[in-house]
Amino acid sequence: MAIPRPDRLDVIEVDLGDGVRGGFSDRSGGVSIAPHDYLNLGYHVGDDWDRAHANRGILGGWLGVPVTFTSQVHGAAVAEVAHHRPSMKRKADALVTTAPGVGIGVMVADCVPVLLADAAAGVVATAHAGRPGLVAGVVPNAIAAMVERGARREAIRAAVGPSICGRCYEVPEQMRDDVERAVPGTAGTTSWGTASIDIAAGVLGQLAAAGVQHVSRVEACTYEDERYFSYRRDGVTGRFAGVVALVEEARTDG
Ligand SMILES: [Zn+2]
Repeated sequence: MAIPRPDRLDVIEVDLGDGVRGGFSDRSGGVSIAPHDYLNLGYHVGDDWDRAHANRGILGGWLGVPVTFTSQVHGAAVAEVAHHRPSMKRKADALVTTAPGVGIGVMVADCVPVLLADAAAGVVATAHAGRPGLVAGVVPNAIAAMVERGARREAIRAAVGPSICGRCYEVPEQMRDDVERAVPGTAGTTSWGTASIDIAAGVLGQLAAAGVQHVSRVEACTYEDERYFSYRRDGVTGRFAGVVALVEEARTDG
């Protein structure tokens, strides 16, 4: 298993169609120090603001454009981002944009980060799906917001990033049962035999139910894999991110 390093940015690029750039960061390639080492994107997690700000710049450098993040509150609201906002105070767990060159991002440390794009329609979105957001429907809401802006469900590509897995996300039995009733297919058992929830499985089910056929998934558990920040594992820690943007078509004229 790779160990996070300060000196090497490590972003998993995902294919969301021509003219769309997107990917998932990990802890590598940033300037923050322990316990936020190294590429912490969160301003709200006790890290030095300047370091977190520098890290956002580093990830924006990879994406090719600055990234707008929002204030995530485990809800289901969608906010449109028409132009870059260095510090967006609005509370929303999904972002959507139709503006080329506007990067949008979703921060996580165990929750499920989702990137969405209809390249032909020129619409991209992000969603932050923890347990409450999953139940509240943040992913279907993000897709609906894309459709309102011209996306076609069958043309949407989705990428589901690293999150805590169903073998690690322990919850009380009552909670598991409540979530299973709201989002079937999420009930699980931890590797040590107690009740758990598989949030990513719930997200995949919601994507399918919403008519999204092209789905890729980064198979990594944040709790088990030290390349990623994990709130469950570490408590005080950083946030990694999924980022996406509509970019200019690559030039082929040399
Ligand atoms: Zn796991």
